[in-house]
Amino acid sequence: MKDKFIGAILGFVVGDILGAPFEGMSQEEIRSAHGYIKGPVKADCYTDDTIMMSLVLDSIIELGKYDPRDVLRRYLENIDKIHGIGMTTYYALSNASISDIHKGGKVARDLGYGYGNGPLMRAPPIALYHFFNQNDEELVRDVMEETLLTHYTPTAVTATVMFSKFLISIGRGLSTEDSYLEALDLINLIPEEFIDYEIPKVFEESLNRNIESLEQREVRGYIKNTIRISIMASYEEDFAGTLLTLVNFGGDADTNCAIAGAVLGIKLGVSEIPEEWLEYASLRDDLRKKVEKLYELACSKKPS
Ligand SMILES: [Mg+2]
Repeated sequence: MKDKFIGAILGFVVGDILGAPFEGMSQEEIRSAHGYIKGPVKADCYTDDTIMMSLVLDSIIELGKYDPRDVLRRYLENIDKIHGIGMTTYYALSNASISDIHKGGKVARDLGYGYGNGPLMRAPPIALYHFFNQNDEELVRDVMEETLLTHYTPTAVTATVMFSKFLISIGRGLSTEDSYLEALDLINLIPEEFIDYEIPKVFEESLNRNIESLEQREVRGYIKNTIRISIMASYEEDFAGTLLTLVNFGGDADTNCAIAGAVLGIKLGVSEIPEEWLEYASLRDDLRKKVEKLYELACSKKPS
């Protein structure tokens, strides 16, 4: 199982590195400027996805639990190093307050933001921390708190809670359909004002879809698009092939590949990530050690 934990985090990071140079480009722009992308092109060119996910991971393993205030403090302390953030996260962190941790997210929401994929990229360490926890209320509580730091909308909360449970269920070896049903169950644990019933529809419409069938409008950086990609990726068995298909679509290539990388990493294990791809991430050994600590913490939540 530890191999799957490491696969989720390293799969995520190599996805970010693979997609980062092509973020914001269209499929045609990539094709005419670079031809077909056949693998990572630049070492350590990760973005906000890796940086913010790592800050959540650091906080959990240092505190031995998830604490939203500590995570927010880390975001603010590292704000200059976090590059590539979306508009929601930008406005939320610019208006954040440690004494009122929901303030930044509410300001961003009042400006009309809260639909980007920021909270999805920060969810994997929290999902892994609760991997063996039978108490789903604790998973929902922590994922909700993380989401609300920046994205104070029902769409973001419902999508991130469902994605987190979906990731756990795929990691446990469940099929895509059964993982969706497990994720759907968690809606009952979300406070009514934070439920968006459109999100289960996005899941259902994405079932049985092949990643090749993505359209250009579906690879732009919105949380519903990224949810769709996570479901489509979960059917695949080929880590590298799937991420290459995805990166060549362009759009929000770094986050799309990071999320698909986490899903396939937890499904297939770290051994299915090409070794030459891992060499593009010089923080791989450091991350591996941190994930081993996270695994031990997760095991302590196993029912006795
Ligand atoms: Mg990014």
